[in-house]
Amino acid sequence: MPKIQDVLLSNQQAVPAIGQGTWFMGENPNIRQQEIAALRHGIELGLTLIDTATMYGDGLAEQLVGEAITPVRDDVFLVDKVLPYEASYAGVISSCEGSLERLGTDYIDLLLLHWPGSHPVEETVRGFENLKDRGLIGDWGVSNFDSDELHALPASPLVNQVLYNPSRRGVEFDLLPLHSAAAPQITTMAYSPIEQGRLLADPTLRAVAEDLGASIAQLLIAWAIRDGSTIAIPKSSRVEHTAENAASAQLRLTDQHIEAINNAFPAPLYPTPLEML
Ligand code: NAP
Repeated sequence: MPKIQDVLLSNQQAVPAIGQGTWFMGENPNIRQQEIAALRHGIELGLTLIDTATMYGDGLAEQLVGEAITPVRDDVFLVDKVLPYEASYAGVISSCEGSLERLGTDYIDLLLLHWPGSHPVEETVRGFENLKDRGLIGDWGVSNFDSDELHALPASPLVNQVLYNPSRRGVEFDLLPLHSAAAPQITTMAYSPIEQGRLLADPTLRAVAEDLGASIAQLLIAWAIRDGSTIAIPKSSRVEHTAENAASAQLRLTDQHIEAINNAFPAPLYPTPLEML
């Protein structure tokens, strides 16, 4: 089985360029076992980075992830998120303790602030540092942070998780260059790389995908990680989709493929506010 290529984080940890999202998982009891099977199959295929959040199903996604990964906890790089309303110093700590309980584990590899809120970020980061010192998290990062919000942080986050796919390229203008230029570098984690299914009938993407002998979902994942340093976290609740997504690691886009996508989905020419889903 071919390996999924790694991305090296600035803390020198290597993680797979393709992970697994979990938004809306754990909310429908009728497909719970199917979702667990999909996550476990993904782990077997090397999609060992799993992204979840306290917000997803108000803890139900964390419970499902916990059940899925318990037998293989140490093979997984677990990413979780704290809600901005809970991001005071004490709030970050108690939110993380609640997450650990629901996940049935004693550590989270990477804890993110889900989006910027009204608690002072210095307090939030102090909470993260406390959790890190106690070994409850491996590291911390942010999500949905635009350039000015990154500049306001007291230290560089390991990761900024943002919306990124061909129909959401605004981040290419200034945010992604800022990630690369930061010291230490901030890794981009691309969420909704399949645009929640809304790009799956696009004629340009269909033509490029056919040329590659791939599906549109696979093309979108390969496009998101094409620079070798971005991580994409597609969500799939079906074993077939998960297997397809893992196989997208083998796709190599040519300049012609990139150009066809650029023509249909132009790169931004001016700053645009960060989009969120
Ligand atoms: P997404 O991954 O772009 O799309 C998910 C949809 O694509 C699901 O309907 C899934 O169907 C379908 N799909 C997956 N693989 C497919 C394939 N090979 N062929 C056809 N369809 C396929 O959307 P997302 O869930 O919004 O984003 C991914 C993850 O990013 C989330 O789950 C979450 O972990 C994270 N996220 C973070 C934020 C944030 O604010 N930080 C916001 C949004 C998302 P099935 O489920 O039926 O397989």
